[in-house]
Amino acid sequence: MFEKLPRKVKVVEVGMRDGLQNEKNFIPTQEKIRLINMLNQTGLEQIEITSFVSPKWIPQLADSLEVAVSIERSQNITYSALVPNNRGLDSAQATGIKEVVFFLSASESHSQKNINKSVKEAIRIGKEVINQALSVNIKVRANLSTVFGCPFDGPTESQKVLEICQELLSAGVYEVAISDTTGVANPKQVSDVVNFLSHDIDLNKIAVHFHDTRGSGLANALAALQCGISTFDSSFGGLGGCPFAPGASGNIATEDLVYMFHGMGVKTGINLNKLVDCSRYAQKLLERKLPSKYLQASTFACDEVIAWTKDYL
Ligand code: MG
Repeated sequence: MFEKLPRKVKVVEVGMRDGLQNEKNFIPTQEKIRLINMLNQTGLEQIEITSFVSPKWIPQLADSLEVAVSIERSQNITYSALVPNNRGLDSAQATGIKEVVFFLSASESHSQKNINKSVKEAIRIGKEVINQALSVNIKVRANLSTVFGCPFDGPTESQKVLEICQELLSAGVYEVAISDTTGVANPKQVSDVVNFLSHDIDLNKIAVHFHDTRGSGLANALAALQCGISTFDSSFGGLGGCPFAPGASGNIATEDLVYMFHGMGVKTGINLNKLVDCSRYAQKLLERKLPSKYLQASTFACDEVIAWTKDYL
């Protein structure tokens, strides 16, 4: 069951984008820059830093331009930002960013409610972004929402997910992150969907993005790992919530994911202690306790527990 695990996986830190867009409070620009500069020190390979969307949609990230041009950039880290269309891409490009993320839904009703467009229309806009981005050497990653179920349409057909992934990959995205947007997936379903996709798509081109809304986020990540997935989105501290369920947990917490992987002998390159420092700082800024279990355990754990777990970090 655990014989074929990868020796190393990649964690894509989405807290500064996906996390903050779902937080009520606006974090001051200088503090966002400080947080990203702190994340630079943790060993992360990839950080989504912001979103180039209209401030009317996401006022929490209205300072995307200033954040993107002001952070310290490490040679070893890929920095990316969400763009909804070519106008967003123009803004991102002006900051010298080398990678963008394009979002779309696998279910019709979520697509309509989220961006007021059909899935087909979203794919068309996505292709415009891909074409323009690739022409100026910017890589594109896609994030496909509601892959494991939609709050409006119910279950999502795996065949539909496959077709959208194939269309995006052949248009030029290098990877599609399949997302459990409202945290409804279970490990068996994750295994079924990933195995289904693996017949037609190289799993190196598929990442997973899980939410812990109903407590199954980490179990789903484990199932994906066992099926051969090696890229995982997560959010430090478990930053962010669920847009459809106020007060509910959002993205799985990077600390929890990294702790589990390290304990299983799967490397991430991430220093947990430094990551926890980032989450503690974010807690202070947001004036609320963040949901990461590892973060809470490390805050309250007694010395013996810390000494014991040290061997596994
Ligand atoms: Mg998310």
